[in-house]
Amino acid sequence: MLELNLNQDNQKIQDNQKLWDKAINFFRKRSLWMLHYCTGCGAMELPPTMTSRWDVERFGVGPMATPRQADILLVTGYVSTKTLKRIIRTYEQMPEPKWVLAFGSCAINGGMYWDSYNTITNVGEYIPVDISLAGCMPRPEAVLDSLLKLMDMIQRGEAKAYKKYKENYAYYKANQDRIFKNAEPVLESAKLKFEYKEQNSSEMGVEK
Ligand code: SF4
Repeated sequence: MLELNLNQDNQKIQDNQKLWDKAINFFRKRSLWMLHYCTGCGAMELPPTMTSRWDVERFGVGPMATPRQADILLVTGYVSTKTLKRIIRTYEQMPEPKWVLAFGSCAINGGMYWDSYNTITNVGEYIPVDISLAGCMPRPEAVLDSLLKLMDMIQRGEAKAYKKYKENYAYYKANQDRIFKNAEPVLESAKLKFEYKEQNSSEMGVEK
C-alpha cells in the first residue's frame, strides 16, 4: 500500500514537472533576444525581417547588443578564420539555453568561398548549430520561417544543440585548434611583423 502511494506521488511530481516545463518553454520561445552580430552579406535581410513589413517582433523576437543577455546567435554568412575566433568567444559568453542559426550557404558549406584559404566551410564544426538556413541570401520569409521553426523546437524541448557543446567539447576544440593552427601565418602576421621589426632594429643597433 505504501509503495503504491509512493508511486502515485512520484507520478504526480513528474506530471507537475512536465506542466512547468511546458509553461517555461512557452514563455522562453516568446521572449527571444537575438544577438546583433553580423558576419556577411546575409545580414542585409535582417532589417526587413525586423521592421514593419515582416515585423519579427510580433513573435517576441528582439535585437540584443550584448552576448551575455542574448539567446540566439545568428551567423549571417561567410566566416573568416579571424571572425571565427570572435564567434566562438561570443558563443561561449552567452548564457544557456542558447541557440545558433547558420544563415546562408556560406555558413553551412562555404558557399562561393568553399575553397578560400581563410574562410571556414561549415560553422557547425566549431560550435553547435540548431537551424541551418539555406540560400544566398535567404529571403526574410525564410528567416521568419526558420525562427518560427526554432520556436517550435524550443516549445517541444528539442532545441538542445547547446548541450552538445559540453558533451562533445573535445570534438569542437580539436576542430577549433586545427583551423587556428593552419591559419597561424595569417592570424599571427601582425605579431610576426612586430617581431621582425624588433629583431632588425636590434641587429642594426637601433635603440628601441
Ligand atoms: S551565402 Fe551569399 S549572401 Fe550569404 S554571405 Fe554567402 S555570398 Fe553572401
